[in-house]
Amino acid sequence: MPAKLAIFGGAPVRSGLLPYSRQSVGEDDIAAVNAVLRSDWLTTGPMVEEFERSFALFAGTKHAVAVGNGTAALHAAYCAAGIGPGDEVIVPAMTFAATANAAVFLGATPVFADCDPETLLIDPKSVEALVTKKTKAVVAMDYTGQPCDYDALRTIADGKKLTLIADACHALGGFLNDRPTGSLADLNAFSFHPVKPIATGEGGMVTTDDPEMAVRMRCFRNHGITTDHRQRQEQGSWFYEMQALGYNYRLSDIQCALGVSQLKKAPAWTKRRQELAKMYDMAFSATKGLRPLSVRSGVSHAYHLYVIQLNLDLLAADRNDIFRALRAENIGVNVHYIPVHLHPYYRKNFGTREGLCPVAEKAYTCILSLPVFAAMTDKDADDVIAAMEKVLSYFAA
Ligand SMILES: *Cc1c(COP(=O)(O)O)cnc(C)c1O
Repeated sequence: MPAKLAIFGGAPVRSGLLPYSRQSVGEDDIAAVNAVLRSDWLTTGPMVEEFERSFALFAGTKHAVAVGNGTAALHAAYCAAGIGPGDEVIVPAMTFAATANAAVFLGATPVFADCDPETLLIDPKSVEALVTKKTKAVVAMDYTGQPCDYDALRTIADGKKLTLIADACHALGGFLNDRPTGSLADLNAFSFHPVKPIATGEGGMVTTDDPEMAVRMRCFRNHGITTDHRQRQEQGSWFYEMQALGYNYRLSDIQCALGVSQLKKAPAWTKRRQELAKMYDMAFSATKGLRPLSVRSGVSHAYHLYVIQLNLDLLAADRNDIFRALRAENIGVNVHYIPVHLHPYYRKNFGTREGLCPVAEKAYTCILSLPVFAAMTDKDADDVIAAMEKVLSYFAA
């Protein structure tokens, strides 16, 4: 007699909710933030440069520009790529809305590419078919933390003279062969939101090897003004010039100190997420009714998310039923993502609709993200596995 599901009044697998992700903040992080609070500079100070230096080293790039959040990182990167009104930007359908929104901020049109059905990464063949005379850039998003096929994307981008941009918000800690994420595209954007691989509360970064793009982004994050407060203080000058229209997208020293401290722990955290993913892989290899996403060869996966696809043919339930049943077991499953072109904003303003990206749309009906974060214990992962098996065996067709 199988255990009664919590959704029908049975005992849940866990007594408290296990979230799909959360930050890890230690006493060392708190001490680093405290030290900044006692210093002269709360923003535009030396911790910003230190975070940028250590991040560029981590990503293997010449430059890293800190900004207020991951969306600002995309906005700054797209601006540095020269994207503007009338341009088209090819973006994946299977991503967070900000990947497309940042093109709209600049007056450009996002054009949605479909994904590979096994990895849900942007499909280079779909990208190639969407290039027009108006295309300015291609954006790849390293969905779940697995780097996209940058070799194929690079060939397309170079052949058509397009800028290749990575939305690497999931992928800090990942590698493609021996190349770290952050070094795989012309411009690479990261987020330090608390659910992401490292946290600064809010925070973002763009990496690049191009010195001119780095200068443009430093200006863009500071109102379009060429010098910041500290540079003027050091020069003993009050004079500044606004060269372009910019924003206040600065990241404070308080946040950068947290970032420096967190980044030191990133390699160990990536390793832990990979261990948890391995536990899931092993447990689910024999589970009917679901399959984990495939991992491409040559990839070291950062596992920001662990996504499975339900085999709905083998289940007498849909994804939402399984989602609700797992939540009742106190497993904080989630869904990443509603394909961006299906959001009402894009339907209304860009005429997008069902059928535009059939692979992403089909995947959306059967995906679930399972909890994975550095502080998770083996017991937590065992609970996820037990709940998944409990729920899927109940709903087996
Ligand atoms: C989190 C995320 C963003 C936005 O980052 P914020 O820091 O929340 O602005 C953009 N793209 C992807 C793929 C993300 O996961």
